[in-house]
Amino acid sequence: MSNNWQNNEEIKILQEYLRIPSVHPNIDYEPCVEFLKRQAESLNLVFNVYRLFNETSPIVVISWIGRNPNLPSIMLNSHMDVVPVFEEYWTHPPFGADIDENGHIFARGAQDMKSMGVLYLATIRALKRSGQTLERTLHLTYVPDEETDAWFGMKQFVHHDVFKSLNIGFAIDEGCTTENDTYRIYYGERSNWKIVFKCSGHTGHGSILFKDTPGEKLSFITQKMYEFRKTQVDKLESDPTLEEGDVSCVNLTILDGGKLFNVIPTSFSATFDIRLVPDMDLKAFEKQLVDWCNEAGGGIEIEFLYRDDNSASTVTHLNETNKYWMAMKEALTDDLNVKFKTTVMPGNTDIWFVRNVQIPAIGFTPFINTPNRDHENDEFLPVEQYLNGIHVFTKILQRMANIP
Ligand code: ZN
Repeated sequence: MSNNWQNNEEIKILQEYLRIPSVHPNIDYEPCVEFLKRQAESLNLVFNVYRLFNETSPIVVISWIGRNPNLPSIMLNSHMDVVPVFEEYWTHPPFGADIDENGHIFARGAQDMKSMGVLYLATIRALKRSGQTLERTLHLTYVPDEETDAWFGMKQFVHHDVFKSLNIGFAIDEGCTTENDTYRIYYGERSNWKIVFKCSGHTGHGSILFKDTPGEKLSFITQKMYEFRKTQVDKLESDPTLEEGDVSCVNLTILDGGKLFNVIPTSFSATFDIRLVPDMDLKAFEKQLVDWCNEAGGGIEIEFLYRDDNSASTVTHLNETNKYWMAMKEALTDDLNVKFKTTVMPGNTDIWFVRNVQIPAIGFTPFINTPNRDHENDEFLPVEQYLNGIHVFTKILQRMANIP
């Protein structure tokens, strides 16, 4: 079986891209740029590379100009970077793109998300091969550093004139694979808070029952946060239609304080990673945190290390008011006859920045019946899912990019 796939042109191109080790840290993106340039040339597409914020962090834009270039375009985004590997835990070389006897292609980036970057190109090849053109322009964007802070990538790019000149009406970026036969479409992301509770109080000898100790306060706050967490766990477990991103999440990530085992320190700090669903009342939640600090006896300072509150205002509405979505929905139901559900992304991706400049966008990865291996050892993608994904995108773009 695998011999067939070895001769498939699309699989060869996918393997070539996956074999480029664009892995953090200190990524050399030039082999990616060179590869993408060749791909664009082979398809007769417009190729541009921009080095806007840092010489070593290129942004590639490959464009297929539509019949009516004045119409708002469709952006298909992917990031070129991948996260590090622990090679000793892999059963196949992480930059080998080997295909095993089950037709699984193993590589870092097979799911997240270099596969998508070449799938967009494969879709254009399929459309061109059957003699089709599209009404609207497609811009395939390849950005650096999504896996770090996106500072030299999408974060600044969305505010640049080059980005504005793309005149994007709708954008598609990464989603996740699904382990069953239902595609997931992500219409928003959760608000991301990183907060530190600095609990200060009575210091002294560890043998005495002092009042107002920092440890009691830390314990109170941590308990309240985990009670809140439990409500979200219960909600998720009691409703099988809910996904991870449909509920909020808190996790204690850093504990700090204390120097010696028999001395009560003056303070303890607890850092929490908090992700809040778009329909959450953020002001009320913040007030709740302050109330808990007071209930704990005061002397607790809340510091925000990071705070993004735009989750609700940037949600992409997937209803009749969104013609791009309606076109995609028709493709999924009428042309492809597949199951799908809409949900909120558990983590944050580059599409967050795109939605923040008021461009409607979804996260969508067209790979089903595949366990999610993002950032894990032995990341792999079934070759048949890749080829089917090209078919899925062909149908979607035939509808979406032909909206008059
Ligand atoms: Zn990704």
